[in-house]
Amino acid sequence: MKKASDIYELQTEKYERFPEQNHCIYRSLYDPEFTHYHKTLRTGMTELVDSGKDGYSRVDLALAAASWTINKHMPYAYEKFPEHSPQDYIPGEVRNRAPENISPEQLSIYVKKAAKFFGASKVGITSLDDNWLYKTKVELYSTSIQEKQELNFPEVSLPNDITHAVVMAIEMEPDGINCAPTFLEFASAGLGYSKMSFTIACMAQFIRNLGYTALPCANDTALSIPLAIDAGLGALGRIGILITKDFGPRIRLCKVLTDMPLEEDEPDIDFINKINDTCTNCQRCADACDFGAISNNDSPTYQPYSKSNNSGTKKWYVDVEKCYDGWVHYSSDCAKCIKACPFSNIPDEITPKAFWKR
Ligand code: SF4
Ligand code: SF4
Repeated sequence: MKKASDIYELQTEKYERFPEQNHCIYRSLYDPEFTHYHKTLRTGMTELVDSGKDGYSRVDLALAAASWTINKHMPYAYEKFPEHSPQDYIPGEVRNRAPENISPEQLSIYVKKAAKFFGASKVGITSLDDNWLYKTKVELYSTSIQEKQELNFPEVSLPNDITHAVVMAIEMEPDGINCAPTFLEFASAGLGYSKMSFTIACMAQFIRNLGYTALPCANDTALSIPLAIDAGLGALGRIGILITKDFGPRIRLCKVLTDMPLEEDEPDIDFINKINDTCTNCQRCADACDFGAISNNDSPTYQPYSKSNNSGTKKWYVDVEKCYDGWVHYSSDCAKCIKACPFSNIPDEITPKAFWKR
């Protein structure tokens, strides 16, 4: 079976796993060489609220900030090896039993149903390709400004018996994305993140309750996009993020890594070919970007823009440092490109005022 590393022609002899601390959102917190050192999405928020601009009212921001609540205040969701709690509605003697003899085929059916039950919009399973594990990780449950000396970047290493990733896509609410790049867009993104936290926490507990190890991950631990491609959830487009059949790029990704024996899905080669063809002739995401972050190249390349790109595969690279310009400028994660992509299925334009009336 061809996997993402074959499809996007990974240069295996040169490739080095990506250090998580190279993501712009982390570099802004600790790296004085980064153009937006110590500038975050919070930097211009007060001025935007006071500006009177449509989509930037105090009410809009109240919704956005509230939508992030579960993500920002539920560190348990990311704990990899939590103790059994007497609060759990499963006795320790049941949870600690050896796994029952259930076939990988049946376990995969249970896992996929549970993922949908807990809120995943799409779910797929892949064997874990170690190329996509981060080399090092950021030990930080925060996106507030830190001094460099407070941060550690230890090596990522997983228990040897972790073999599979259950990869889940969460649809982002379309009305908020329709109001990109305002605080209402940020509300849809935040709600997506909070749903990710909820879903990975519940999924990991489900798998642990059956006697297996489960490591819940949002964006941490491993690159979600290639794992999602391997799990059959979609394709990489010019926009630089995963495009799914049902929701286009209007999704968030999360995963649970596990030693549970599961049947893996295959990359959707037909859809990957369709996206390659479409993106070759379509520039809508690039045209929508006010910061020139999305490539107008005729075809994919091996040319990254900065150390914040994971290089080594052939794709349309995004200048993520320019994209971060947009995030700081709009005090949101912008998403004008997601709104513009025809695969996102965003209906006719609505105004932020109309958002509150629907
Ligand atoms: S999120 Fe905004 S700034 Fe970033 S690439 Fe998309 S349109 Fe450009
Ligand atoms: S907007 Fe067009 S070019 Fe950009 S990702 Fe979507 S289909 Fe591809």
